Amino acid sequence: MPDLPRILGQRPRKQSIGGSVTLRDHSRSYRRLCASLLDAEPLCRYCWAEGRISPATLIDHIVALSLGGSNDRSNLAPACADCNAAKGRVEQRFVSRGYDVADVMRDPELAGWTKKAGT
Ligand SMILES: [Zn+2]
Repeated sequence: MPDLPRILGQRPRKQSIGGSVTLRDHSRSYRRLCASLLDAEPLCRYCWAEGRISPATLIDHIVALSLGGSNDRSNLAPACADCNAAKGRVEQRFVSRGYDVADVMRDPELAGWTKKAGT
């Protein structure tokens, strides 16, 4: 029998950009949600916030799964690969060294990305 309280208190383990397999949702309903978001909003939300027009090619988690974000529609933003990668590099700083939620919330660079996502 596993030590449940300890398991429940664990943060996501260190991982590479893009989150761990266990945190990702590969369900049909999630894929459908992503497709509908891209249909409804085909431009990168982050580029749009800076006055650029770029096609969205993927769905970004506004708050990364690896930092406690969810697959809820409100946490998803259509994005281009460049923005997703740039944001991922910022997030990776927290994931790779371990993190404190308060540090994440105060980080000005991540706050800038969140603001551009319109949340
Ligand atoms: Zn972009």
